[in-house]
Amino acid sequence: MSDTNEKSRGSGGLALSFEVFPPKNDAQAAQISEVAASLKPFNPAFISVTYGAGGSTRQRSVDTVHRLARETDVPLAAHLTCVDASCRALDEVIADFRSYGVERFVVLRGDSPDGVGAAYRPHPQGYQDTADLVRHLKATGASDIGVSAYPERHPDSPDWDTDIDTLKRKVDAGADRAITQFFFDNDLFQSYVERVRAAGLSIPIIPGILPIHNINAVRDFAARCGASVPDAVRSRFDGLDPNTIEHRRAAVELAQEQIQDLLARGVGALHFYTLNRDTLVVPLCRWLASRTGGRNAA
Ligand SMILES: Cc1cc2nc3c(=O)[nH]c(=O)nc-3n(C[C@H](O)[C@H](O)[C@H](O)COP(=O)(O)OP(=O)(O)OC[C@H]3O[C@@H](n4cnc5c(N)ncnc54)[C@H](O)[C@@H]3O)c2cc1C
Repeated sequence: MSDTNEKSRGSGGLALSFEVFPPKNDAQAAQISEVAASLKPFNPAFISVTYGAGGSTRQRSVDTVHRLARETDVPLAAHLTCVDASCRALDEVIADFRSYGVERFVVLRGDSPDGVGAAYRPHPQGYQDTADLVRHLKATGASDIGVSAYPERHPDSPDWDTDIDTLKRKVDAGADRAITQFFFDNDLFQSYVERVRAAGLSIPIIPGILPIHNINAVRDFAARCGASVPDAVRSRFDGLDPNTIEHRRAAVELAQEQIQDLLARGVGALHFYTLNRDTLVVPLCRWLASRTGGRNAA
């Protein structure tokens, strides 16, 4: 699997990226600023800000990117979805991001406004799917485009051929990298990469790592988005209160084991789902920095 992340490896070290979501209030906004500041010493390839479907959520994404652009010189990526917006409305949001210097995007189709699992219908005057929006962004000067990938298959894909074909259309439209949904079984990731390579796609596939802040929440979230949580992972947290140091220690150890194995399999980049908290991701980055001889530390 050594060709998994050839582009990222070209940069010399392990490429680390981090995802945050828009805050709902001022206190949460301050928390994101703190997370960004505590990640900066690890030389992030980028910090990405997720994008919500509704109008107010959308504005919070724009405001968060604006805030981080003011406060940090870490490269930023803005997520975008095609959901429930005309091309014209979405182009205005894209112009906002661009006015803060952002030309790196993570481009998604998104979920139906009726909720995850409800049938997706494109907006009649909107971008029809991810590939359509990727094509538009590339044609208008985007420097780097990430798209999603699903080691356990997207729930809307009736079979693997459909799933890999969707990725192929995104790559053909100009995607530069794929970032995976979180997973805990590295064999699933490896099988997925093999499927993608067998389809003739050489795009870097960056594993999405979810350090577990609360095993119960992760179990529920995973069920909603079609990811599995193996029994061997669940049992590590048996009897542990999510607010305790023991839960935190179990989470760090689990993520270290997963990452160590991914690195042994030739992975050269990692994308962390931070959930706007630095309590797990910073110890993991410190551990990685010591492991990589400081290449990811300032
Ligand atoms: C790294 C990452 C970041 C994310 N960030 C966000 C975010 O910021 N905001 C948010 O709301 N959600 C986000 N999501 C969740 C994502 O929006 C959902 O998983 C959504 O259900 C699918 O969006 P997608 O871009 O992955 O879809 P795609 O990969 O484009 O498509 C998903 C599936 O839909 C079907 N499909 C799509 N287009 C077609 C077509 N033209 N014809 C036939 N079938 C088609 C296929 O089965 C395909 O596999 C993220 C997911 C990941 C992995």
